[in-house]
Amino acid sequence: MKRFWICVFGFSLLAAVVFISYVDYGSVHYDCSADRIAVCHIVCDPDYRLADPKKTAALEALIERKARGDEPTREELMNAAVVVPYADITGLNGVYCNDNIFVRDNLGDEGKAFVARHEFAHALGDSNVRETCSYGESCATMNAALAYPMGFVETVASSLWFSFEAHKDKQCFFFDSWGIFKVYILPALGG
Ligand SMILES: [Zn+2]
Repeated sequence: MKRFWICVFGFSLLAAVVFISYVDYGSVHYDCSADRIAVCHIVCDPDYRLADPKKTAALEALIERKARGDEPTREELMNAAVVVPYADITGLNGVYCNDNIFVRDNLGDEGKAFVARHEFAHALGDSNVRETCSYGESCATMNAALAYPMGFVETVASSLWFSFEAHKDKQCFFFDSWGIFKVYILPALGG
């Protein structure tokens, strides 16, 4: 019986290695450009109607406080973030531009807080305020995930679902998801 489970484990491990090699090769070499969701950056247009000076001022205050070591509360963070219709930010969970943090509206409260904290990290980087890790996507993701772990899970699940639905070539769903995992999550796991 013990040998049976060793065999199951061995085959699972082999299957995982084969699958990861396949998606890793595909994520680099397979052309998915025609199958990608077109990313909409309309919120980064300087004239974007919701770019809000009050939100900008609130964000600047949070950045200044963070420079003195003060982590914003969830309420403060959401007060500084601009929640926008998904149509205005298609293909993204959030973005930092126009001195504002934008978050898509079709996420739950936990997901929104996670995304706002991720974009806050970019706003900090832009103002040369250092966090515990060096700047970049994985650092922003790690700090946001530590603050809002359920939001991290919700956002990843929601993004995967949107991506799965949007991809006509389902191979590209796996290749693109792996590509995102490598940029946003894998480096954070390694510290
Ligand atoms: Zn980011």
